[in-house]
Amino acid sequence: MGQKILIVEDERELADILGAYLEVEGFTPIVAKDGKEGLSAFYENKPDLMLLDIMLPKVDGIKVCKEVRESSDIPVIMISAKSGEMDKVIALGIGADDYVTKPFSPLELIARVKAQLRRYEKSMDNSGMNREEISTGKLSLNKAAYTADVDGQSLTLTTKEFEILFFFARNPNQVFSKEQIYEGVCDDNSVTVYINRIREKLNKFNLDYIKTVWGAGYKFSAG
Ligand code: CA
Repeated sequence: MGQKILIVEDERELADILGAYLEVEGFTPIVAKDGKEGLSAFYENKPDLMLLDIMLPKVDGIKVCKEVRESSDIPVIMISAKSGEMDKVIALGIGADDYVTKPFSPLELIARVKAQLRRYEKSMDNSGMNREEISTGKLSLNKAAYTADVDGQSLTLTTKEFEILFFFARNPNQVFSKEQIYEGVCDDNSVTVYINRIREKLNKFNLDYIKTVWGAGYKFSAG
């Protein structure tokens, strides 16, 4: 049985076409016709990837994506009827990995499905504690070479800055106090200074990956 692709789409004809194309490529399509059914199918079938229409009966695609993200980081490709809908998806930062706007070519969508699955498998391969390369969002970090880049452009960091950013990127969405950060990577407690410098450098690429959690510390989120 091939990798499971959950299609959440209320346009029956489109869902069937996508399902047929996916089957030809060796995938196992699962179709849900509204957001509620989509969520049940997600919990029940544990799909490898999700194709998610935005305008859906019962529960819309944005809500579905947000709920899926609470427990899973499988690739999610959003499907929208209007280009304006995508602005909302991006603005809300709901955690989708890619999107297409109707009408689109099924072959193009299949190519994106494959690309997302490759990217995801690669990140899973690297998910052990000893992994030396991390790619998250637009950021790539290579611990063997102590190099960082954003979308292929080099990001210059000092050794300490690199270690802090690497520490964060390896533990995404977890809140760390300053003490935990410097115990993890530094031998002194100028953590705030280092973090501010890293933020300034990331800001040049319009990335806001290190968030302040008031009263608790910091967390890294590339979503
Ligand atoms: Ca729809």
